[in-house]
Amino acid sequence: MNASPLPANEPRDHTLDACFLGPYGENDALLEKLLVEFLRDHVYWRRNFHPEDPPAIGTAAARHPDYLAFESRMRRELHLLSAQLKKSVPFHSPRYIGHMASDLLLPGLAAQMLTLPYNPNNVSEDAAPVTVDMEVQAGLQLARMLGYPHDPAQPACAFGHLTSGGTLANYQALRLALALKAFPVALRAAQVPDLELPGDDWTAFNLPQAEGIALLETWQGWLAAQAPVERRRWIARVERERIEQRGLVDFFATHPGLHVPKVLVPITAHYSWSKGAKLLGLGRDQLELVPTTGMRLDADALRDTLARFARERQSVLMAVAVLGGTEYGTIDPIDAVLAAREESRRAGLDFAVHVDAAWGGYLATLFRREDGSLRNREEVAADYVAFPSPAVHAAFAALGDTDSITVDPHKLGYLPYGSGAFVCRDHRAMALLAERADYVFHGEATGDYLTRYRSLGQYIPEGSKSGAAAAAVYVMHKVLPLDHTQFGRLPRATVRAAEAFCAGASRLALELAGCARVLVPFAPDSNLVCLALNPTGNTRVDSANTFLRALHDELRIDPTHPLQLKEFFGSVTSLRPDLLGPAETARILDALGLDPVTLGDDGADRLLILRHTLMNPYLIDRENGISYIERYFDFLAQRVRVLARGASGHPSAATGG
Ligand SMILES: *Cc1c(COP(=O)(O)O)cnc(C)c1O
Repeated sequence: MNASPLPANEPRDHTLDACFLGPYGENDALLEKLLVEFLRDHVYWRRNFHPEDPPAIGTAAARHPDYLAFESRMRRELHLLSAQLKKSVPFHSPRYIGHMASDLLLPGLAAQMLTLPYNPNNVSEDAAPVTVDMEVQAGLQLARMLGYPHDPAQPACAFGHLTSGGTLANYQALRLALALKAFPVALRAAQVPDLELPGDDWTAFNLPQAEGIALLETWQGWLAAQAPVERRRWIARVERERIEQRGLVDFFATHPGLHVPKVLVPITAHYSWSKGAKLLGLGRDQLELVPTTGMRLDADALRDTLARFARERQSVLMAVAVLGGTEYGTIDPIDAVLAAREESRRAGLDFAVHVDAAWGGYLATLFRREDGSLRNREEVAADYVAFPSPAVHAAFAALGDTDSITVDPHKLGYLPYGSGAFVCRDHRAMALLAERADYVFHGEATGDYLTRYRSLGQYIPEGSKSGAAAAAVYVMHKVLPLDHTQFGRLPRATVRAAEAFCAGASRLALELAGCARVLVPFAPDSNLVCLALNPTGNTRVDSANTFLRALHDELRIDPTHPLQLKEFFGSVTSLRPDLLGPAETARILDALGLDPVTLGDDGADRLLILRHTLMNPYLIDRENGISYIERYFDFLAQRVRVLARGASGHPSAATGG
């Protein structure tokens, strides 16, 4: 391809040069120096704890045959491990544009490695005097990025904690929404006097979150004013009525006006929502899949569903909007979901609005000024060809008005696995998740935000958890504050790479005219771009899929062959007509020259497409004037020509690629 590989007048970002170990391990000296320094530091810490204690392992111990035998076994296994790990996926390379993984940010990686030998357990401050606070602070850092109140001195401050990943964070969102929704019903059932309680169960189950939280506060205040014996009696009485105590079956049997609530998720939602519905005992039947247009939640369809549920008196636990879908990277209209909730609220049907931003959460840095305020669309757009669309800007601007958000530091936060995060806008609801029912006794202590959350284990779905991961998130956020001037450099580079990728796809389409049809099925909302391909002349979906599978075989990890034989890594996903809807399906098939009647046959109920996650900041390598995006398209063009020839000659030969 002859197009100019690099965008003109692009100043080089030298900060990015220091962020990662680098595709070639360029920053090895920096990381090595840090690691050696902090390992020594750790050893001094041990030695200085009680220097009067003599070394327990003798200086001659290392010469004993048993010691030597152990050491040699350990070395052997470690060498084997190290050798085997060479088959790992080369996430660090700009040739890797497959799944949601890339290089790791040095400040986070170093902080995590530095913390590991101290082994803090963030289940509580007893086991993690330092890193529990860091986790709570990291939650506040994320809250600020997302537009939630983040001043812990204010009563209505957000709260966030880390999880093993987005899956558990989504689960926590369900748990919290259910606790808050069902609590006013329990207060009614317990017949707490003096409180102004909703008139019936339906109203109690449909209180707006803010009113539910206000009621919880009033109840806590009322309890504090009771004598200790009375207080215990009332706590026990309310606890007996809570959904967490009774279980779903008994709770809904006791309240015949209520049904198990629905969870509204777009059809594109991650399968963690299915897991969550099962785990919470709601059942997958309660997941109501909302149709999409262009793979973005269809707000009209959402409104119709809500109106129907209001008429049927079918309650709703939460509506989920996805900010950066796992398969197509699309961004749901969060503003429209909030507007639909307003409308529904007037019809007496209320629910939580949660944003699954496991993938796209850190893109919010692009929209934040250093002072935390929101950048307008024109400001953001100055750096890009088309990003952000007005719809995308409106979605990010609306984040602050939602109730809770999932965001994965181990995805677009470029940190090691084991770091998801759950953030809720008003931390006071968290009291309902506390494992100990005596939460209300800490009248004064609850005032101190940081003190309260040092018992993290009370609130989180997990128990023991890594304090090292929390240190990594906290330190990374300190080194790269979550605004457009700092952390935003990373998503900025990748969104620009995605724009270059789309331009490259258009050129590929021209270049392959007469050989294959090439289509970007949805204009990307951020840095995930899909590509649909079909050999010219083929009209059958099954043959198109065979062709794409053969192409993907060249782009995927094959543990039986050396990594170096692969030129590039991409991933694959599929387009299902039931998710796409008839109009979009027709549009895409038509553009590819595929006959719609061939869709739905055995083995062709969906169309396979390539999926590219553009996370690597060095996709456009300014040092050497290389665009890996252009190289990828050159590679693709060459492989498509070979495979398309096979596909048109003898259809079955395509799999041999
Ligand atoms: C990745 C992802 C999840 C699940 O997160 P894990 O960290 O893999 O548990 C949930 N939702 C979306 C949108 C995701 O992209």
